[in-house]
Amino acid sequence: MNPEEARWRELGLWPLWLPRQESALPRQEAPAQAAPELPLDQAGSAVSEDFVATAGWDELQTLVSQCTRCALHETRQQAVFGVGDRQARWMFVGEGPGAEEDQRGEPFVGAAGRLLDQMLRAVGLNRADDVYIANVVKCRPPQNRTPSDTECAACMPYLRRQIALIKPTLIVALGKVAAHALLDTDKTLGALRGKLHHWGDIPVIVTWHPAYLLRNPADKAKTWEDLCRARHLLASPCTPRDGSADTADT
Ligand code: SF4
Repeated sequence: MNPEEARWRELGLWPLWLPRQESALPRQEAPAQAAPELPLDQAGSAVSEDFVATAGWDELQTLVSQCTRCALHETRQQAVFGVGDRQARWMFVGEGPGAEEDQRGEPFVGAAGRLLDQMLRAVGLNRADDVYIANVVKCRPPQNRTPSDTECAACMPYLRRQIALIKPTLIVALGKVAAHALLDTDKTLGALRGKLHHWGDIPVIVTWHPAYLLRNPADKAKTWEDLCRARHLLASPCTPRDGSADTADT
């Protein structure tokens, strides 16, 4: 069995995803033994975190689209994977899809998304170039409630893999849920803003979620400060981790 076939068999998707040219393999090449057992999560999904951690883009997108790792899959119209430049230096991480994102399958396309686009333009960026946008949870929480810690934990392997594949130079955490998930902390957003954090070796800047800014426009100025700080970090040839230039608390 070739490695690709083995991976799809582990997902229980074989032969649905069998490439046409391989469907003619001699019968004796099909494995007689059962697919290896994978750890089951609470939702009964036979997809281990180890499997997600080695997935390529296409596999990862398929895994997310069919994911049942948490209860959010029951009410979604579709999972919202992420969008943008897969070699981006900038990665923006939000909370989860809203109603419009759930319908269209793209993150940040509602009113908050339009504000994010404005924020990007303000620092000379756009979502199609050098920017990748994803959320902590890929499925819409009902009534746009905040995703639970359990839901965030269930979905984090996908975001971890997206970050590992993109290898961004900088991550901007948009809002408390993203900051908490990325930094494994429960500090307030106010306490996290204005400091330099890290995801592994990747600098993380925390700022307000655009949806919050729609309700609290007075804080747009602080977000502007955060983005300028991020811009400065990215332009800087080296980013000290010892707090000599910024206060690193993670
Ligand atoms: S939110 Fe994430 S973990 Fe939950 S079902 Fe959707 S893709 Fe899976």
